Amino acid sequence: MKTFDAIVLGIGGMGSAALHALARRGLSVLGIEQFAIGHDRGSSHGEYRIIRRSYFEHPDYIPLVDASFEGWRALEKASGERLFERTGLLVVGNRDHAVIEGIERAHSRYRFALERLTPDAAMARFPGFRVAPDQIALFEPDAGMLRVEDCVITMCQQALDAGATLETGQTVRRWWREDGQCVVETDRSCFRAARLIIAAGPWTGTILSDLELPIRVERRMQMWFRTPESAYRAADRAPVFCYALDHGFFYGFPAEPAGAMKIAEHSGNDPVGSADELVRARLPHDLPRVQGFIRDYLPLVHGDETVRHSACMYSMTPDEHFIVDRHPSTPGVAFAAGFSGHGFKFAPAIGELLAKLVLDPAAPHPYEFLRCDRAAILR
Ligand SMILES: Cc1cc2nc3c(=O)[nH]c(=O)nc-3n(C[C@H](O)[C@H](O)[C@H](O)COP(=O)(O)OP(=O)(O)OC[C@H]3O[C@@H](n4cnc5c(N)ncnc54)[C@H](O)[C@@H]3O)c2cc1C
Repeated sequence: MKTFDAIVLGIGGMGSAALHALARRGLSVLGIEQFAIGHDRGSSHGEYRIIRRSYFEHPDYIPLVDASFEGWRALEKASGERLFERTGLLVVGNRDHAVIEGIERAHSRYRFALERLTPDAAMARFPGFRVAPDQIALFEPDAGMLRVEDCVITMCQQALDAGATLETGQTVRRWWREDGQCVVETDRSCFRAARLIIAAGPWTGTILSDLELPIRVERRMQMWFRTPESAYRAADRAPVFCYALDHGFFYGFPAEPAGAMKIAEHSGNDPVGSADELVRARLPHDLPRVQGFIRDYLPLVHGDETVRHSACMYSMTPDEHFIVDRHPSTPGVAFAAGFSGHGFKFAPAIGELLAKLVLDPAAPHPYEFLRCDRAAILR
């Protein structure tokens, strides 16, 4: 049985970051992934993810976003890969919408760059986007988008360059602790390590069933629509965008050079029984709400048909905050789960946090609101 200093179970967004964080410190570390690196069957695929400081969800995320911006920059520098594109973020909503109020609250505490635009000023600056007279537009110039699969692949490549080992196409069936070591059994082999990090994304309920975490896996459809208009190209200063509307929360990215533009709904409720049962085909209910949004707010996009689509999974916690903590009863084990549809941007900071949680078991948890014994999780 091969023995390592640490094992990372699940090499998606968070696992690849943890693998990199541990390998960079000179530890012998093994990553185990059931599919290929950069696959499209979990939560970290679909070309782009938004990164922003406009954190309406909880202002305490902003120091983590700052650390993550630094982490992505350092990864780009070390690898020579371009992972982040600074497009700016346009957020549109009613002045009293919880999202707008939450961003204002976060801004008053952390003072990141943020502009307030009247509807006319927003439409003059971003001609492809509609803003209604009773809405307000906020613009965060330093926000942008991450190339999600390239980020995962690059973190793994950097980890491999630092000496990590990767086993792909191997599914972990069981893990346990014996004789001061964690033992991890896959469908093909068995490995040991003093420390184990579990980052199984929407499969967390299976691999950490002992914790009975209140995580609900939900399906979200990502769809690409055609637009011939330069108003939506990043090269022509189109931003990533979010619309916080009374009937739903929609978002999207600038069009790629061939004219396809990813537009999706963040809100919704489409439960998945288990991650292996995700329906990846486009279903009749996927299209109409996004089409309605396009009709109302993106008048130059062809919303009648999709160019392509890709189903993805959210892992929702009751308070929609992540769970990143040490295992409450098994020494040497930490886990990250429940990223509630907004976790990817934080991968470098979460990877660092996971490494610290297993390497310094006596250190206090630095982020109370991410602990697994907070009220919303125990309820
Ligand atoms: C449509 C969509 C849009 C999103 N938009 C944004 C955004 O704009 N900005 C943002 O910050 N976040 C966004 N998110 C959220 C973000 O992508 C996720 O929070 C993040 O990717 C979760 O990463 P993860 O590592 O927890 O899960 P995953 O990336 O799914 O990784 C889990 C990995 O564990 C592996 N695994 C599980 N069980 C086993 C096992 N038993 N054996 C071996 N391997 C196993 C899986 O195969 C998988 O690779 C979005 C999510 C979706 C679905």
